Amino acid sequence: MNEFALIRRYFAALTPRAEGVALGVGDDCALLVPPPGQQLAVTSDTLIAGRHFPLDTHASDIGWKALAVNLSDLAAMGAKPLAFTLALSLPEVDETWLAAFAAGLGTCAQAGGIALVGGDTTRGALSMTITAMGSVPPGMALLRSGARAGDAVCVTGTLGDAALALRAGGAADADAGGADGQWLRGRLDRPVPRLEAGMALRGIASAAIDISDGLLGDLGHILEASGVGATLDASRLPASPAFLRVLGRGERLPLQLAGGDDYELCLCVAPEYLAAAQAACGDLPLTAIGRVTSTTGLRLHDADGATLDIESLHAYRHFP
Ligand code: ADP
Ligand code: MG
Repeated sequence: MNEFALIRRYFAALTPRAEGVALGVGDDCALLVPPPGQQLAVTSDTLIAGRHFPLDTHASDIGWKALAVNLSDLAAMGAKPLAFTLALSLPEVDETWLAAFAAGLGTCAQAGGIALVGGDTTRGALSMTITAMGSVPPGMALLRSGARAGDAVCVTGTLGDAALALRAGGAADADAGGADGQWLRGRLDRPVPRLEAGMALRGIASAAIDISDGLLGDLGHILEASGVGATLDASRLPASPAFLRVLGRGERLPLQLAGGDDYELCLCVAPEYLAAAQAACGDLPLTAIGRVTSTTGLRLHDADGATLDIESLHAYRHFP
């Protein structure tokens, strides 16, 4: 099958005709019509086999995740998904693999309400780069630079699940094949971008970022961009029941703080807006885990107020 037949079969009609797309796959460029007066939010992320997903990852999960990590960036800006392009590098034409990849990608696109409008297909080591575009009213995007001293630091969902799954996949974790192991693996392979929460938090959150590299590092980007610091209470980090069942107490913090691949949102919210922020997240739990300070730097304490050493936790950044 040549490149054009491949594009026609798997990608040209992957997503239905969408509002905001005047011309999709097939010409030299796609033509988009963003909502009048709105700003275009644009983001790209590359996934490389073996680096960003384990080599045994199912093709449908790779398709889902390649788009989900980009939608997570749109969510962190409060943007509404519009359209995306896919640059795909394949070592060979494996139709079984392509069908599964396209199915996972299409499912994520449908869930996110976003249209595939173009891309590029080449032969090479397995990798994919997606560029996603969304729209946001001027002045309403959630930036990294808006955090102020006194804001609550909050996170959506639970932290550490994906990092634990990655570890369970690498080392023979006792529960890797059990129900908890499978649920955790789902958190790694099929992250759910927090799009509705992101849009609903416009005008409420003072700053936002999505957690891809671990809470400490990603919150650090907010603090740096905002010229502030923060104090976090390690005992308030939200953990899933599966995570708590699989891991002993002493092992939890490094994965929750620096494990990465969470694709939850980390927000700063003025105290008077905290209830509104929680309401904006609907059924998705939003947990306050600390406070923004005018003193720069990040400090961490346990439930008793005892200081914890952040440097030793950061050492886990390159884990596994
Ligand atoms: P060109 O040579 O003009 O860049 P291509 O031959 O690369 O065009 O692609 C033909 C059409 O198919 C273009 O509209 C392009 O955007 C689209 N396309 C190529 N690869 C993909 C892909 N993996 N997914 C979606 N659309 C694609
Ligand atoms: Mg091309």
